[in-house]
Amino acid sequence: MTRVLLLIPSRTYRTHDFITAASRLDVEVMVGSEHRPALAGLMEGRHLRVDFEDLGRSTERIVAFAQTHPLAAVVAVDDAGTLLAAAAARALGLPHNPVHAVEAARDKARTRERFAEAGLLTPRFTTASIDANPQTIAATVGYPCVVKPLDLSGSQGVVKVDDVEGFPEVFARVAAIVAACPPNGVRRSLLIEDFIPGEEVAVEALLRRGELEVLAIFDKPDPLNGPFFEETIYVTPSRLSQERQSQIRQTTARAARALGLTDGPIHAELRLNDRGLWMLEVAARSIGGLCSRTLRFGSGISLEELILRHAAGLPMPSHQRELAAAGVMMLPIRERGRLRAVEGQSEAKQVPGVDGLVITIPPGEPLVPLPEGDRYLGFMFARAESPAAVEAALRQAHAQLRVVTDG
Ligand code: ADP
Repeated sequence: MTRVLLLIPSRTYRTHDFITAASRLDVEVMVGSEHRPALAGLMEGRHLRVDFEDLGRSTERIVAFAQTHPLAAVVAVDDAGTLLAAAAARALGLPHNPVHAVEAARDKARTRERFAEAGLLTPRFTTASIDANPQTIAATVGYPCVVKPLDLSGSQGVVKVDDVEGFPEVFARVAAIVAACPPNGVRRSLLIEDFIPGEEVAVEALLRRGELEVLAIFDKPDPLNGPFFEETIYVTPSRLSQERQSQIRQTTARAARALGLTDGPIHAELRLNDRGLWMLEVAARSIGGLCSRTLRFGSGISLEELILRHAAGLPMPSHQRELAAAGVMMLPIRERGRLRAVEGQSEAKQVPGVDGLVITIPPGEPLVPLPEGDRYLGFMFARAESPAAVEAALRQAHAQLRVVTDG
């Protein structure tokens, strides 16, 4: 039986969908995680304790384990495990991304350097230590600019600044967000870069031995103009022209090459304006949250199944995305408070086209909006005959929801 090691960070939304995919494929799953899994009893003999930041020791553990339990693949389900997956796969002789490429993808400043060297349009940028004096930096950067952490995700700590007066306060705010995160080896610096106006798309793709196959292009119909960048609606297929979509595919492939990524899923973000296609980022992982549930391929295959098939060298069935348009709304957190309830869920689910609603924050938990927040309230899904109908369904259903909090 084919056996894969899934690297699962303690905070991820992706566990269930990867485990489900593995069981559909009849693949035996080992879980590598930093803590004992909540269901440790059920995972007896199928859990490996690893430290995602200690690549040397954790790779040794994985290699030692694989001597008695051969592994066909090591797959990181989310950002945190991508470096260890690359290091362990290299030690085991399995096809995977080079470690230096994953390092470059995880560090937004190095990503910018690689993109610029490759001649891609990418914002002008500089970096500054979180301890630097923001007054001094404020005079040296152009406006509007974006201040962001080097290695967080989900737009946490990403803030637009319009002018020199506003810079110090934003810098201090983002620095405090980074300082509050557990240290993980990436420099404790901030990236400051030009704000690029324009519409934005996300690309979900799979690299196979350096060849990029785009699985879906998502439009983001809500304008993302700051000061915070709360992602809400993603809809596929894109409504952009075929020519624009083909440029997006080519630019994304160049960006993945510029980083040196070769194998596995990527999730990319681009901005489009009259100067061209701007590469914002390429992450060496699949789409975050529960958003992958918008994607179905061939005869109902999930994105996770494609990723596992590729990683474990299993046959790849035909996997065109389904014909229906599909979309997701990442339910934003707009106000601070302690969650009591999300009302109106059954009304939202009854909106034609809506085919799923999952609230991922349990009642009683604190709600923290961006830029400090690091999670969404939940995810709502829709399918319809056109992207416009999907977007309308998501908006109509969202209008039914009422978030009730204790002050
Ligand atoms: P994360 O990895 O946390 O998602 P990103 O760097 O992708 O962080 O930024 C999150 C969002 O912020 C982007 O999707 C985009 O909407 C916006 N953004 C980030 N940088 C810029 C920029 N330089 N110009 C315009 N928008 C930006």
